Amino acid sequence: MVLQDKKVAIVGGGPGGLTLARLLQLKGANVTVYERDKDKLFRQQGATLDLHTESGLKALRAAGLIEAFKSNYRPGAERFTITDNNAKVHYTERDEEPSMDIDSEYARPEIDRGPLRDLLIASLHEDTIVWDSKFSELKENGNGWDLVFENGTTAYADLVVAADGANSKVRKYITDIVRIYSGVTIVEGNIYNAATNVPNLWELTNGGKVYALWNHKTVVLSAKGEGSLSFYTSTKEAEDWAKTSGIDFGKKEQVFAWFKQRFADWSNDWDEIFTTNESYFVVRPQYYIPANQCWQTVPKLTMLGDAAHQTPPSGEGVNLAMLDALELYEALCVENFETLGEALTYYEQKMHARTEVATEESLQLIEALHSENNLQFMINFFSGIKGR
Ligand SMILES: Cc1cc2nc3c(=O)[nH]c(=O)nc-3n(C[C@H](O)[C@H](O)[C@H](O)COP(=O)(O)OP(=O)(O)OC[C@H]3O[C@@H](n4cnc5c(N)ncnc54)[C@H](O)[C@@H]3O)c2cc1C
Repeated sequence: MVLQDKKVAIVGGGPGGLTLARLLQLKGANVTVYERDKDKLFRQQGATLDLHTESGLKALRAAGLIEAFKSNYRPGAERFTITDNNAKVHYTERDEEPSMDIDSEYARPEIDRGPLRDLLIASLHEDTIVWDSKFSELKENGNGWDLVFENGTTAYADLVVAADGANSKVRKYITDIVRIYSGVTIVEGNIYNAATNVPNLWELTNGGKVYALWNHKTVVLSAKGEGSLSFYTSTKEAEDWAKTSGIDFGKKEQVFAWFKQRFADWSNDWDEIFTTNESYFVVRPQYYIPANQCWQTVPKLTMLGDAAHQTPPSGEGVNLAMLDALELYEALCVENFETLGEALTYYEQKMHARTEVATEESLQLIEALHSENNLQFMINFFSGIKGR
């Protein structure tokens, strides 16, 4: 195996990095994950994630974690409701029996980000993750690298894998292809104790997801297992809007004032989002990496997941990150390459081919979700899936 007697450093303990760490450890590799979060109790944010048979679930199966997944996923959370700007329901699965068959080709079981991360962490040897290690710099050192962290510590590795997400600090050591603003900005947030704080919207989700679409704008609601409601608005804004709008996104009243003006053609049903102080908001301009990117392999450095390819949310990101982890593991530990460089080239070529298609499809979807007729597009899309 090309990793014999080699130290592997994975920068970033998200779903992609942790899946890779688990797979490599199953083959006895010497692997360490460097994660910027202070500790494993750091609260996980973001919506629930649906894992797909051919990617996210495939990686979990290879990692021997499908039983752990079955203990933690949320049957019923996959049920989808589509509304218009007045919260009028145009399509819903809310009253259907929860899907319990995660082995079906079309299975899309949902798991909250926190429990997914927890089960991956629990599968690793103790001390695999070095917390509070925010990567800042790479320096070549003989056949490997010295990693430098913001807290002043350093570490050596023969192979470094960037799994540090959309704002990767490692990516620039591999390619100078930069990401492009998609035109879309998300205002994301979370409401705790949602049954009490936002009873009507909580009821609308019925434990699942709601997509509200109207006239170029979208609001997405996701019920989470611990009782909070994750949400985001998605609108077309200028790239620098987050900075130039003058809105303090830490102040609910200011975000609400923006919402009432930007969503002026939406009913008051959505105002409930802004009625509680048990919430937070964060603004996220959305970028994509050009579909046709490629680079000359750096023999001892590669990347996966959002660090390597990204689009605005389209339901594929976490699945692609976990499939990258599986294919990188296979290149390093299952295929019989002579050198690390050959293994990385094999992995990267497969990843480029796969993510080129996925990026193009995601960008088309994002355009449709922000079109004038986005509601009808979504209804047709889901009716088509049901018709399969
Ligand atoms: C609002 C929203 C909704 C989404 N919904 C979905 C969905 O429904 N389905 C789906 O598949 N995808 C969804 N995505 C996308 C999905 O979250 C990502 O594609 C996925 O998390 C990528 O996994 P990753 O492991 O590559 O990166 P990440 O999950 O971003 O993990 C990166 C890790 O690296 C760490 N890190 C970052 N910088 C450093 C550093 N300098 N040093 C050390 N550690 C660092 C981070 O703390 C984090 O733990 C959504 C994204 C957003 C913003």
